[in-house]
Amino acid sequence: MRLLLVGPPGAGKGTQAQFLAAHYSIPHISTGDIFRANLKAGTELGNQAKSFMDRGELVPDSVTNDMVKDRLTHDDVANGFLLDGYPRNIDQADFLKNVLEKAGTPLDAALEFKLENAEIIARLSGRRVCRGCGENSHIIFNPSKVAGVCDACGGELYHRKDDDAEVIAHRLDVYAEQTEPIIDYYRSAGLLRTISAIGEVSEIAARAIAALK
Ligand SMILES: [Zn+2]
Repeated sequence: MRLLLVGPPGAGKGTQAQFLAAHYSIPHISTGDIFRANLKAGTELGNQAKSFMDRGELVPDSVTNDMVKDRLTHDDVANGFLLDGYPRNIDQADFLKNVLEKAGTPLDAALEFKLENAEIIARLSGRRVCRGCGENSHIIFNPSKVAGVCDACGGELYHRKDDDAEVIAHRLDVYAEQTEPIIDYYRSAGLLRTISAIGEVSEIAARAIAALK
């Protein structure tokens, strides 16, 4: 199973990615993990990425693309992979297509998680993260027993800057402008499967597996 996930921030892709990777026994490849691994190992690509980040600039597509290409040569992708957070735009999608075609291992499916903006804003703006253990909770959907205190470790729950309404609105704009076009890209290629991202984690997981059959 060679699969990628696409959907707006707040759609719960990370949780589903872990579940699906385990279900299909394939590695969960997220761009965040690839970046951290390259930075930690001090690879040539990691150093290039770091030089942009140190200047407060976005890491260019060419560097991200090469990191993903490198990751897709590791032994553990022999039976497939699940890409999460990549591609983020049409150029990256084209790059990935070429890499996979050259390797003779084309993509099987792009799974889209669909969610209305109002729902995304409600989800993200109510999210709280523990300073102690990093556990997530939600003031409406998954409240802690004591407001502001982590159930798991007693640490302080805080509201990430990333989850402020204005920042969320900006993230959604960037998504609509840059990432949403890849949905049509994969639809045209006959690879798109779309599911609703509303409901319990287990319901969404069951939908995903049914859509990928
Ligand atoms: Zn905690």
